[in-house]
Amino acid sequence: MKLLGVIGGMSWTSTAEYYRRINLEVAGRLSHLGLGGLHSARLLIHSVDFAEVAAMQRAGEWDAAGELLAGVARQLAAGGAEGLLLATNTMHKLAPQIEAATALPLLHIADATGARLQAAGFTRVGLIATAFTMEQDFYTGRLSERFGLDVIVPGAVGRADIHRIIYDELCRNVILDESRDRYRRVMADLAARGAQAIILGCTEITLLVSQADASVPLFDTTAIHAEEAVSFLLS
Ligand code: GLU
Repeated sequence: MKLLGVIGGMSWTSTAEYYRRINLEVAGRLSHLGLGGLHSARLLIHSVDFAEVAAMQRAGEWDAAGELLAGVARQLAAGGAEGLLLATNTMHKLAPQIEAATALPLLHIADATGARLQAAGFTRVGLIATAFTMEQDFYTGRLSERFGLDVIVPGAVGRADIHRIIYDELCRNVILDESRDRYRRVMADLAARGAQAIILGCTEITLLVSQADASVPLFDTTAIHAEEAVSFLLS
């Protein structure tokens, strides 16, 4: 099995979910091959202090955040990692800086997700994520250029609510029914506007909603990225 370096802690609540899912998937795939059920993933996780990163996001200090994450990537490479996984959608804004920091492959979360949507035949998809991911071009642009997807996002009030709930609740391990209801309404609006599927484009959203909360298929980036990680580990 390869050794995968994980740049995590953004936030820790989703990194914990990645860790759980990656291990379950490794054990499942290897026991399916008749190799026994005790296998677990070879991971090197560097979990950052999210308060530091979130302050840089708020201040628009993306270069400084890029340097911080590039430094983490170098540490993981020095520790023997053979590939890198960045366990957040938002910070893929800095994927170019992270990729430039080492010679290791970065398992890009938007590429893994876009490929799934394309394979499923969807062309118009909704996106719920942080405001950075919904409003800037690094994510939606990549999905449209590489996978031909027409990506729609909630209106201003919906975007603000989705973003607030991520930072004020999900990243702090707070899961509220009223917030799930709000997400349900936003997802119903996206479906009414023609979204054939919805991307859960923030790695904490999986802690709040599941397929039962929407009328169209949900593409959970945490689940998809974790599966991608396992394919790399076992390749
Ligand atoms: N984990 C989140 C994401 O997937 C948001 C936290 C962050 O800004 O990294 O975008």
